[in-house]
Amino acid sequence: MKTTLLNTLNALKEQKLTTFSTTLSLVNLVLFHAPFFQYVIDNISGGFNGYVIVLSLVLIMFLANLLAFTLLLFLGGLLGKIIVSAFFLCNAMSLYFINTYQVMLDDTMMGNFWNTQYSEASGFFSWAMLLYVLILGVLPTLYICAVKIKKGSFKRFFATLGITIGSILLVAGVNTQNFTWIDKHAPVIGSLLLPWSYTVNSIRWHNQQKKANAKEILLPDAVIANQSKKAMVLVIGESARRDHFSLYGYTRNTNPLLQQTPQVTALIANSNATYTTAGVKAILDSQDSDDLYEILPNYLYRTGVDVIWRTNNWGEPPLHISKYYNTAALQQNCTQLCEYDQILFTQLKETIEQSNSNKVLIVLHTTTSHGPQYNTRYPASFQTFTPVCTSVELSHCTEQELINAYDNTIVYTDYLIHNAIEQLKTVAGYETGLLFVSDHGESLGENGLYMHGVPMAMAPKEQYQIPFIVWTSNADKKIKDVQVVDQHYVFHSVLNFLDIQSPAYKEERNIFID
Ligand SMILES: [Zn+2]
Repeated sequence: MKTTLLNTLNALKEQKLTTFSTTLSLVNLVLFHAPFFQYVIDNISGGFNGYVIVLSLVLIMFLANLLAFTLLLFLGGLLGKIIVSAFFLCNAMSLYFINTYQVMLDDTMMGNFWNTQYSEASGFFSWAMLLYVLILGVLPTLYICAVKIKKGSFKRFFATLGITIGSILLVAGVNTQNFTWIDKHAPVIGSLLLPWSYTVNSIRWHNQQKKANAKEILLPDAVIANQSKKAMVLVIGESARRDHFSLYGYTRNTNPLLQQTPQVTALIANSNATYTTAGVKAILDSQDSDDLYEILPNYLYRTGVDVIWRTNNWGEPPLHISKYYNTAALQQNCTQLCEYDQILFTQLKETIEQSNSNKVLIVLHTTTSHGPQYNTRYPASFQTFTPVCTSVELSHCTEQELINAYDNTIVYTDYLIHNAIEQLKTVAGYETGLLFVSDHGESLGENGLYMHGVPMAMAPKEQYQIPFIVWTSNADKKIKDVQVVDQHYVFHSVLNFLDIQSPAYKEERNIFID
């Protein structure tokens, strides 16, 4: 009996790296993820696919932790052990806060954490917290410190890494249909995965701080060339793909209004990115660059143009203008259908007519075709194509139901743009123009892909072929006969339209004929 116990203890004291990482990963999964599983189970609709989602998340979580622990313990030596121990201590503390205060460890919460003074933090102390830390944090940590790890050969190490990464890819591959479910619940499940939530969200928060404080590289000074009164409305589309606009030849009539609207030109365009932040930056940037150059609204504001930004979305580069209105601000003056994008389009005419400036730029950042719940993005009266997909678990929908819901967002987009043009036509004293450009396209099941975000180099055409729609109040204002444009054409075309003279201006990227 005594010898058996000693043998077991000895066996536990010295362990192979793979066995030890596997154990830690399992322990981590079991000790810290009750709130996570509770959330997932509450939000799946049951049936076979529900089991697939739960099982896949368990596997991914186990494999991701296995990968992290193996890497840290093999390459990090003592430092690796300290980091893994710190994870267990922080996990214990995090679980206490999740269970006690229902906090979401997202980027905002991590920002609060990093800004908290020691004196405030000490106010959170409780005996329950101490118990969490001692049992779930300190005990595993003592064990981690006591174990002697037999690392094994490099060959074995790389084999473990290879098998783990391969398995993660395999599980991800099986779940392409469930990406939309994961996408919808990502903010919550991402905040409940330990240690990933606080690690990744702390990094995200620090990056956001860096970005918000980043100094943009100023463009050379511009001048307003004349006093003629002109106003441009730039509508930034969300996930609008070109081939679902009947203006571009789609067989369904998704543009019943714009097809009847005079002076509308639909240019062939490709986005410079497949995700929102990069797409919006490209629309506002004068050139392709990873650096932060002065963007269109900031540049025009500095030059003396009246710049108004209204957003029902997020992800724009830092703005340095005085008239910025987000969803909450816009909803204050809204009486009906305030959850839809039309809150962006109210009183365009009055806003321009009341401007103190001869040159006006209004940017409207929409969210109209944002997935996966396309059916929630438009008022009921725009439900032209039925039946529609109403679930984020796409296995519950047919391909056609998903496309129907998406196409209804394009019908709504058609209405919004048309409505803006109707207002702009009647603006007194100003020549007006409108540009509608999407941030990127959208996959709707082609090659098993949904949504967007595939790296540009291998992105399918559905994710970067975008609409670029132009309207001007002046029928004599002609558009160049260009083959294909990209998002940077916006910057130069707006400068041209508003008669802004700038050394940064490139005539070859302007769509208007003077
Ligand atoms: Zn987007």
